[in-house]
Amino acid sequence: MFPNKCSVAVADRRCANPPSKVVSIVSDDGQYMVGVSCEQHSEVFMARVKKLQEDGKLESGSIRLEPLNAVGTDCIRGDADDLITPDTGKQAPHDR
Ligand SMILES: [Zn+2]
Repeated sequence: MFPNKCSVAVADRRCANPPSKVVSIVSDDGQYMVGVSCEQHSEVFMARVKKLQEDGKLESGSIRLEPLNAVGTDCIRGDADDLITPDTGKQAPHDR
């Protein structure tokens, strides 16, 4: 269910590290995941989410960072991922 790689792209390259953190937005409508991040990129990711919120591309709300295994899979919404990494085009074709 979860992406198997960090959602952050740096210098046009998608980070290949396994994710260890889930970044989600908590709003009035509930909580939804915007992507996953490795240990190294969690702050970068949160900064990007914040920027996208300021630009109105993501729902406003508080950004929450949680360990990957602490989050349920019922609130996953994958459509925001492309906003985080617009320069990589698309997801891997065979996400496991
Ligand atoms: Zn990363």
